[in-house]
Amino acid sequence: MCGIVGAVAQRDVSEILVEGLKRLEYRGYDSAGVAILDDEGNIGRARRVGKVQELDNALIEQPISGGTGIAHTRWATHGEPSERNAHPHLSCDEIAVVHNGIIENHVELRERLRGLGYVFASDTDTEVICHLVHHEMKSADSLLAAVQATVKQLHGAYGTVVMDKRQPQRLVVARSGSPLVIGYGVGEHFVASDQLALLPVTRRFAFLEEGDVAEVTRREVTIFDTDGNPVEREITESNVTHDAGDKGQYRHYMMKEIFEQPAALQRTLDGRLANGAVLPEAFGDNAAELLAQVKHVQIIACGTSYHAGMTARYWLEQHAGVSCNVEIASEFRYRRSHVFPNSLLVTISQSGETADTLAALRLAKEMGYMASLTICNVPGSSLVRESDMAYMMKAGAEIGVASTKAFTVQLAALAMLTGAIGAHNGMTAETQAALVQSLQMLPSKVEQALGLDDAIAALAEDFADKHHALFLGRGDQYPIAMEGALKLKEISYIHAEAYASGELKHGPLALIDADMPVIVVAPNNELLEKLKSNVEEVRARGGLMYVFADVDAKFESDDTMKVINVPHCDEFIAPIIYTLPLQLLSYYVALIKGTDVDQPRNLAKSVTVE
Ligand code: GLU
Repeated sequence: MCGIVGAVAQRDVSEILVEGLKRLEYRGYDSAGVAILDDEGNIGRARRVGKVQELDNALIEQPISGGTGIAHTRWATHGEPSERNAHPHLSCDEIAVVHNGIIENHVELRERLRGLGYVFASDTDTEVICHLVHHEMKSADSLLAAVQATVKQLHGAYGTVVMDKRQPQRLVVARSGSPLVIGYGVGEHFVASDQLALLPVTRRFAFLEEGDVAEVTRREVTIFDTDGNPVEREITESNVTHDAGDKGQYRHYMMKEIFEQPAALQRTLDGRLANGAVLPEAFGDNAAELLAQVKHVQIIACGTSYHAGMTARYWLEQHAGVSCNVEIASEFRYRRSHVFPNSLLVTISQSGETADTLAALRLAKEMGYMASLTICNVPGSSLVRESDMAYMMKAGAEIGVASTKAFTVQLAALAMLTGAIGAHNGMTAETQAALVQSLQMLPSKVEQALGLDDAIAALAEDFADKHHALFLGRGDQYPIAMEGALKLKEISYIHAEAYASGELKHGPLALIDADMPVIVVAPNNELLEKLKSNVEEVRARGGLMYVFADVDAKFESDDTMKVINVPHCDEFIAPIIYTLPLQLLSYYVALIKGTDVDQPRNLAKSVTVE
């Protein structure tokens, strides 16, 4: 789930490994480690709980150098975050392993390996891989063969890299359910769980596919598929840019990314809208033909992306004339569901590697969906490769664990999808043109909304000592309230819930008192009067409200209510605009509380385990 970096080179690789880990820090992790095959042919290892910098300091004090090495940032799934559970794990000081993912049959394998005399030094599931490879080496004629034999016995998800001191100058890597990329250098090769880790050393990458096992030496990379047949995986030149050290004028990546939204949206829309219509090619070469046949949309996503999908449901059903269901990927994948005729499956994921979403896509392929579309920010990711159509988001690398710009760009993509599908289902040319015009205004409207920065910073003080908060919205603002609550939870650790405001009286009203701030998103739309009644219900019970409202909604600040006027915007793009003040609010509250904004506790950026 977290970070892997590996290298085989003639030069010392320790700095490359640590730099690679630093570039993956944004994903969130609890400990870090490296193992390097040193010049004497021994495996040197260093592991530290906490930041990669701790590991770096340890290596400055006691350097380990050599030409072959592996490194890892761990996001604990089995066994507490501690030095003994940090990767790389060793077997008999001969084999070293790093692993992302979860080995589901680790208990059974552990028993077997114990029976064979192996002593376990950690509580992780990963350690079974290590001893299993060691055991297989007793009968295999190469590390490659031992790893091939090992992965056949593993159930679960893994991206893993194995090093053996008896077979120097090589790494063997295997992928199933957790991404791995090979980086091609000159007379040196690299592996990583994410290309961002390797950008200082190469831009030429091949993405491993499910079931692939590869042997990587300085001169050669040989890849084998699940059946053990040699295969070629295309090597592509990456144009991804990322400078992990550069937060510019900002204190945190999250703030930088909030302020990047006008530019990210502009890039995403550029060249995809023309003559008052959405160009279906934005969704892929074959999209015009496929989207014309859609009568039902099934959206699958997790977390923030799920909220984008929830918003799209309002849009698609209201404007595009098709029915739409939205479901959390981890639920969808384990239940029986019904496929309507001419159903389009839409997956949404910033990274394109979200394990549950990917599994749902694979399942859906067998279920008879007409076609699949992914809305994704990472070219070449698993979702992009495995979907029939892909909408590439162009949000740029998102480093903050709490998603901001990816969310608003996902919404813009889904608004475009509404236009593209609506065009074939009775959306008039005027409505389409109005939609396109709203979208074209989006970057400048977002810029205006960011002008609320100072006002929101001042407001945040009120929340710093609170333990709970409620977010309310109606219609397409309900998912925005959900996203606002999620942001606050994620980075300030304040417990926050969102409700469709009509639901208040069915339970949550019981929670209202002066210690429970209530945040309301109130654009001027047809539900405004209903929302105002809900606001009165809160006021009557002594609640304190913070209302983000359109000027024309005519809310007035008083003792029980603080009103923040949000720039006026078209109704269609209002969910995107009202997201911004909520992002800023959670950021400033976290800042006052002093939490780790970019790497909140317990969370990881790209959730590649179930
Ligand atoms: N399941 C492994 C562990 O808990 C790997 C976790 C990860 O993906 O970082 O150590």
